[in-house]
Amino acid sequence: MDKKLLGIDLGGTTVKFAILTETGEIQQKWSIETNILDDGSHIVPDIIDSINHHLSLYDMVPEQFIGIGMGTPGSVDIKAGTVIGAYNLNWTTLQQVKKEIEKGTKIKFSIDNDANVAALGERWKGAGENESDVIFMTLGTGVGGGIVMNGQLLHGAAGCAGEIGHVTVDPTGFECTCGKRGCLETVASATGVVRVARQLAEEYAGGSTLKARLDNGEDITSKDVFELAENDGDDLALMVVDKVTFYLGLACGNLGNTLNPSTIVIGGGVSAAGEFLRSRVEKYFKEFTFPQVRESTKVKLAELGNEAGVIGAASLAK
Ligand SMILES: [Zn+2]
Repeated sequence: MDKKLLGIDLGGTTVKFAILTETGEIQQKWSIETNILDDGSHIVPDIIDSINHHLSLYDMVPEQFIGIGMGTPGSVDIKAGTVIGAYNLNWTTLQQVKKEIEKGTKIKFSIDNDANVAALGERWKGAGENESDVIFMTLGTGVGGGIVMNGQLLHGAAGCAGEIGHVTVDPTGFECTCGKRGCLETVASATGVVRVARQLAEEYAGGSTLKARLDNGEDITSKDVFELAENDGDDLALMVVDKVTFYLGLACGNLGNTLNPSTIVIGGGVSAAGEFLRSRVEKYFKEFTFPQVRESTKVKLAELGNEAGVIGAASLAK
């Protein structure tokens, strides 16, 4: 019988599960709510119960699985299989995730942080086309990333490799939650785009729907900014998009010059702006890279959407 992989994408609101073939085809998927009450103490037991329930429902046994892989928020010790500091899960103390899940399911377990796992997913079955050198960045409420080199995730000395959100793109820029200034996250996350819009709106004098809506105190999202730029040609919105894509192109360019991946994949909610965003990032990327990198490193949009997490997590188990 063919062996299977089980991928888990643990998030602050849902836990997504998928059973995949060894070649990465999803055969079954399901999800449960994440119960973060009582310091997140129900999360791991709920995951174990859900797996065991699903296996018994479909007459499956632990021996059919090569392993379980999971992506999680927070700081992960991949060797020990522990997680700490996942504040959206209420995990403030050390969680023995690997130990408990292996004991509860009798299946071998591997874990990494969610952005790294999404990078593995896009590299394996998405825009990375299973190439050995791929960088992934996700533009969501924050900016995360993962770097795959020679087919392996980079972790670095303290597990911080791939924290692309904290690459400095403007030394005199906005303060970041990490304590320094001008991080990519402060200008290219969903809230960052709005922050740039507010800053540019202050000095903007011409006619603009975006300016009028900001001045009216309306809640603006990054999606609004990109839509006003793309659909209405709103002057201020176009300036915001230009500035945000400049910063992204600068970060991508420096990553390209340093690591020369075959692909830099852009995903996350902000990347829903699609080709309108990608082509502008690529324009600046080309400006900031030297010829050999410019010709060999592509800038692409993510292709797997929500499934990058479970697919990448499953690949951890291989
Ligand atoms: Zn930062």
